[in-house]
Amino acid sequence: MLNGKTAVVTGSTSGIGLGVAKALAQQGASVMINGFGDANEIEAIRLSLERLSGAQAAYQDADMSKPAEVAAMIMAAERTLGKVDILVNNAGIQHLAPIEEFPADKWDAIIAINLSSSFHTIRAALPGMKKRGWGRIVNIASAHGLVASVHKAAYVAAKHGLIGLTKTVALETAPTGVTCNAICPGWVLTPLVQKQIDALAARDRMTEAEAKTKLLAEKQPSHEFATPDQIGGMVVFLCSDAASQMRGAALTVDGGWTAQ
Ligand code: NAD
Repeated sequence: MLNGKTAVVTGSTSGIGLGVAKALAQQGASVMINGFGDANEIEAIRLSLERLSGAQAAYQDADMSKPAEVAAMIMAAERTLGKVDILVNNAGIQHLAPIEEFPADKWDAIIAINLSSSFHTIRAALPGMKKRGWGRIVNIASAHGLVASVHKAAYVAAKHGLIGLTKTVALETAPTGVTCNAICPGWVLTPLVQKQIDALAARDRMTEAEAKTKLLAEKQPSHEFATPDQIGGMVVFLCSDAASQMRGAALTVDGGWTAQ
């Protein structure tokens, strides 16, 4: 379905971003991945994406907290892959603390990576998409883009902001062939969530399995994690013709979290 299309997925060396990169490659897209990690593992991921897609895969180590590097990554993608048809803004970090104790530098980093980097990628990639008359922008927000939880001030603010940005870009691109939507996952078992499971297990003196059950029971009525592959499937759907009139939506994949 995506033969001849090119995609940039930020924060795709792990977790949801990696699931999205694989799903796009499976459909034949040429993908640029981004994020941190071990150089050999990243090269192995890049090669596996080329095998999946039968097309080129590339890697860029741009730090999403640095606007100049973000813009340079989009230029590098246009140079290396020829264009950017699909942009998935996924890079994100988390920090938990009550607001009075929330470190200012963590606030700044979360707003920069989880929100502002999407402004910078969209700004850089949109002119090319408009010129070619086709584009898909998918922002990985969160259930925390729709509702809040304690101790996540920066994350909740950034994700609510990302949904606002999604709606604005969707309106500005409404008369064009470019769409912009957000996906709002609930709990997905990735390194970002594993850290929260480990902290819960240590705090409440539980086993890891008990901490997982407690985490899910608090928020996710299905009592099951969503998976990176499922989020990837949603991105592929948003890239299809069936989704061409979906504009500015915030689509939940949250086991019922926000239906409560
Ligand atoms: P993860 O920690 O597994 O992956 C994060 C990715 O972002 C990694 O590739 C990492 O290297 C990269 N990254 C981190 N800081 C970066 C930076 N400064 N510049 C470039 N890349 C950077 O996390 P995940 O759970 O897969 O989260 C991915 C996205 O999904 C995030 O935006 C997160 O908020 C969102 N999300 C996750 C969940 C969940 O339950 N896991 C739920 C809702 C939303």
